[in-house]
Amino acid sequence: MFDADAAFDTIEHLAGEIGPREGTSDAFARAADDITDRFEGLDYEISHVQVPVPAGNSWGVDVGEGESTNVIADPPGFDPDEAHVIIGAHLDTVPQAPGAEDNASGVAVMMELARMASVEAPPVPVRFIAFGAEEPRGEGDDMHHFGSQQYVADMPADQQEALVGMVSLDRVGVAADHVPICTGGTGTTQLRDALIEAAESIDVPAEACENRASDHWSFEKAELPSARLGSVPYEAYHSPDDVPEVVDTDQLDLVGRTMWAWLTSL
Ligand SMILES: [Zn+2]
Repeated sequence: MFDADAAFDTIEHLAGEIGPREGTSDAFARAADDITDRFEGLDYEISHVQVPVPAGNSWGVDVGEGESTNVIADPPGFDPDEAHVIIGAHLDTVPQAPGAEDNASGVAVMMELARMASVEAPPVPVRFIAFGAEEPRGEGDDMHHFGSQQYVADMPADQQEALVGMVSLDRVGVAADHVPICTGGTGTTQLRDALIEAAESIDVPAEACENRASDHWSFEKAELPSARLGSVPYEAYHSPDDVPEVVDTDQLDLVGRTMWAWLTSL
């Protein structure tokens, strides 16, 4: 069963103990190490892929060029050329925000799903990815989502064909009367509709939405089936006030149970 309190503990660790973790910072590296340890404790096989990023300006703060990291976690025996799902959540924040909602919440739900999948393997194997450097470093579509854009650019054709769907968990914990389930609005809505159906199957209210402000967009641009859970507006967005108190465990629970209902329906 999805444990929203365990997810909240992850949020307190990332946003409370580690704090702001811009994609090239020491704090980001520490967060990536901690997530790696957690995955390894669940018997996942880890690869770290370096993500070079340019200097620029991230939400009003100058940032230098440097390297971020994608942390990729596969279950034992995983073969990316066979049918698989990707669940991703960006691990970085803008420089000024501890990022409890954006996006410790998504990472926390992802870690709980990884724990559940390690106990009871879903029908289609899941690759989990903590993406680096999702947040903007300037204007335009090339200046954000660096980790996921690089991942998609590096995907061989066989892996693209084997991808059943990619879900980005991004800002999933602010209380709402529904779970937003979005696409970028250009391609198929099949995955979004399947996620909404999974939510409805367990009486979780879900609403379709459109936005391009997360890692699902990198996959959608490559015409790969993708969707994003989350994006409820909140005042503390990209600010020092994005602290664990903005996150609601009931909302984490709705999102986590929706994801598990979908994974077990495949
Ligand atoms: Zn985000």
